Amino acid sequence: MAGEPQDDCLFCKIVAGTIPATIVRETDTTVAFRDINPQAPTHVLVIPKAHHRDAAALAAAAPELAADVLRETQAVADQEKLESYRTVFNTGSGAGQTVWHAHAHVLGGRGLEWPPG
Ligand code: 5GP
Ligand code: ZN
Repeated sequence: MAGEPQDDCLFCKIVAGTIPATIVRETDTTVAFRDINPQAPTHVLVIPKAHHRDAAALAAAAPELAADVLRETQAVADQEKLESYRTVFNTGSGAGQTVWHAHAHVLGGRGLEWPPG
């Protein structure tokens, strides 16, 4: 069911603490941790603690929680002292989504091309 922890979900395991992660921020509803394969000097993932398969499902089922995630991307940028940064939600495998628990990438600390590749 939407929102319930999923036994086979990597990010639900990070929320539960059964898989380690370098956590940089935590709120009642969200966790932010460093990406294991960073694509920039700062590469942090912000996730809702509740399981939703992607950003679209999160926004549809729990818009206030989606807003919490967005607010946390700014909080991460502030904490990491990023003047400019990029927030990315990959939605669907064609866009590069590999983990099916909604997450925002926060990327910064280097120049970022636009449009992206
Ligand atoms: P996606 O490709 O789904 O948008 O992003 C998933 C991200 O999760 C990737 O950037 C990948 O490096 C990261 N990732 C995958 N497994 C782990 C893990 O076990 N720990 C952490 N911290 N990040 C992970
Ligand atoms: Zn999950």
